[in-house]
This record gives sequence, structure tokens and C-alpha cells, in this order.
Amino acid sequence: MFSMVNGFRNYSQQAIEALRYIGQGFIVTSDHMNRLPMTIQYPYEKLVPSERFRGRIHFEFDKCIACEVCVCVCLINLPVVDWKFKKNIKKKELKSYSIDFGVCIFCGNCVEYCPTNCLLMTEEYELSTYDRHESNYDQIASGRLPISIIEDRTIESISSFDFSSKKIMEEHSKSKTVTKFLD
Ligand code: SF4
Ligand code: SF4
Repeated sequence: MFSMVNGFRNYSQQAIEALRYIGQGFIVTSDHMNRLPMTIQYPYEKLVPSERFRGRIHFEFDKCIACEVCVCVCLINLPVVDWKFKKNIKKKELKSYSIDFGVCIFCGNCVEYCPTNCLLMTEEYELSTYDRHESNYDQIASGRLPISIIEDRTIESISSFDFSSKKIMEEHSKSKTVTKFLD
């Protein structure tokens, strides 16, 4: 008789414990159901990159003196600088310049060390192509101005700072509420 009562008590305790876990799981699930998605509806919405974002490199042909500093500081000697020495003016003449953005790691070394500031990192990040050879930008391709997300009226641009700070604050307050509830 005593063992039966004991068994029944154990069983009730386990059932209560199980119900508690189910309840906790349900609270967490319902909390997630109320949250806004952490993603944006790309390509209808796009994040505006932060000010120091390291995107596609813009190159100014006229400013380049073909010194090849960018090649020396590049971890993989990526920029291809083609030049010819002009004896009459005792200067190098730049013939072509290219960077393969399929290989570039966007470290920004070349931009940092270029003595004439003819390289600049832009906010452009949509660089995928169907053919990898198209990622190799010559001076004409890398000389075009970056496409600005803000000026594109067909999409909704979202500031990455606003997006992340709003989400972080939202998540922070939600997690605090859930923790309080579960305690
Ligand atoms: S460091 Fe600047 S100036 Fe020198 S070759 Fe490279 S891009 Fe041209
Ligand atoms: S960003 Fe870095 S990896 Fe790309 S070309 Fe410049 S130095 Fe090389």
C-alpha cells in the first residue's frame, strides 16, 4: 500500500515537472511568434551599408601614377597595373588597370596605401555574376560610379544602423521579459 502511494506521488511530481517544461516551451514559442522577422525582403528592400563599408573599389584612372604600391601591399598581389615608361617625359604612363573582385577579399590595404588616393571603397555589394571572368574589372568597369541604393525608387532602402539597433533593442527587451516570466 505504502509503495503504491509512493509511486503515485512520484508519478504526480514527474507529471507536474513535464507540464512545467511544456508551459515554458509554449511561452518561448509564442514569444517568437510575436516577433518581427530578422530578415529584410531582398531585393524589394535593401540595407544601406554603413559609412565605412568595404564594397567594390572605385578607381580613378587619371590620378593613378602606376607606382604599384597597391600591388605590393595586396596580400595576393591582385591589382594588375600595366604601364609603359615614357623616356621623353621620364614618367610611367598607365595603360590599363584591373582588379578581380572574384578573388579580392576587400581588406582595403590598396585603398589605404595608394599615394594618390585614386582608389576608394564604395558601398556597392551586389557583385555576383554568372561568369566568374566578369568579376575581373578593368579601369572602365571600376571607374564607374557606384550604384546608390538610396536613389533607386523601385526599392525600399533601410539604414543598416537603424535596422540593427532597433532589432537589438527589441530582442533585448523581449529576452528580458521572457527571462522574467520564466523565473
Ligand atoms: S597605388 Fe594607387 S597610384 Fe599606385 S598604382 Fe596603385 S592605384 Fe595607381
Ligand atoms: S582590397 Fe585587399 S585583396 Fe582587394 S585588391 Fe585591395 S589589397 Fe588586394
